[in-house]
Amino acid sequence: MRNFDLHCHSSTSDGVLSPQALVTRAAEKGVDVLALTDHDDIGGLNEAEQTAIKQGIELVRGVEVSVTWNGVTIHVVGLRIDSENSHLLRGLESIQQGRQLRAERISHELEKSGIKGALEGARMYAHNPRLIGRTHFARYLVETGVVKDVRTVFKHYLVKGRAGYVEHQWTTLENAVGWIHASGGQAVLAHPGRYDLKTGKLKRLLADFKELGGDGIEVVTGSHTHQHNARFAVLAGEFDLLASRGSDFHAPGEGGRELGGGPALPDSVTPIWHNWGIN
Ligand code: AMP
Ligand code: MN
Ligand code: MN
Ligand code: MN
Repeated sequence: MRNFDLHCHSSTSDGVLSPQALVTRAAEKGVDVLALTDHDDIGGLNEAEQTAIKQGIELVRGVEVSVTWNGVTIHVVGLRIDSENSHLLRGLESIQQGRQLRAERISHELEKSGIKGALEGARMYAHNPRLIGRTHFARYLVETGVVKDVRTVFKHYLVKGRAGYVEHQWTTLENAVGWIHASGGQAVLAHPGRYDLKTGKLKRLLADFKELGGDGIEVVTGSHTHQHNARFAVLAGEFDLLASRGSDFHAPGEGGRELGGGPALPDSVTPIWHNWGIN
C-alpha cells in the first residue's frame, strides 16, 4: 500500500526545512504521495513539485488555512488546490496581513513580561517574511534560553492565560472552505482531536463544516492518539466525510511525527484520495 502523507510544513511557513529538503526527506522516509500544506501560504509548492519529480514521488498542492469558528481556532487543509487561483491568493494574503499585526501584538505582550526584541528575533526564524507565526517566536524563546524547547514554550508562553498570548480573529470557516473549493481543491478539517471541544460543540463543528461543503477530516495525524484515530474514524462515517492521513511534520528533532509516520487509515473509512487515480 502506498504511503500518503497529506499534511506537513516547510520553511515557507513554520517548518525548518526548505521545500526541496522536505520533499527529499519525505522520499527517503518512504512517502509516495506528499501534500505540502504550509500555513496560509502556497509559496513553497513549485520548488516542492520540482523536487518531487526528481525524487519520483507525487506532490499534492496543499495549504493549511487558519480559521476562527465560534471563538475557537480551527485549521482547514486544502488539498489539490490550484495555487494560482485569485480567490485563494487574495484570501491567504488577508490572513498573512493579520499575522503581521498579531506578531507585533505578541511581541508587545512578551515585552511586558520582560522579554525584549521578540519581533526581530522571531523574524530571524521566519524564512518567508510574509508568514510569521507563534512557532517563530517559540524558536526565539528557546534560542535566548528563556525556555528549553519549543514544546515547553507552548506550555508556558503564547497560549491562553500565559505571557505572549493575544486573541486573534482568523478567517471564517465559510471563507476557508469557499477559497479552497474556488481553487478546485478538497477541504479537510485538520487534527480534529486537538481542539479540545466537548462532544456537543465538536459535533456542531463537524455539522457546520459538512454543511459548508467540507470534504474530509484528518483521522490519522501527528497529534492524535490511537483513541483519537478510532473516534474520528467513527465520526467521519457519522458525518459522511472522507478521511485523511498526515504527519503535520515541522522539523527534525522538535518532537512531533516524522514524515510518512503513523498508522494506516482504518479500513472502515473512505480515504480522501479514493478517486484521485493514484491509489
Ligand atoms: P500560529 O498559527 O502562528 O498560531 O501557530 C500555530 C503553530 O504553533 C502550530 O501549527 C504548531 O506548529 C505550533 N504549535 C501550537 N501548539 C503547539 C504545541 N503544543 N507544541 C508544539 N507546537 C505547537
Ligand atoms: Mn505549524
Ligand atoms: Mn494545524
Ligand atoms: Mn499543520
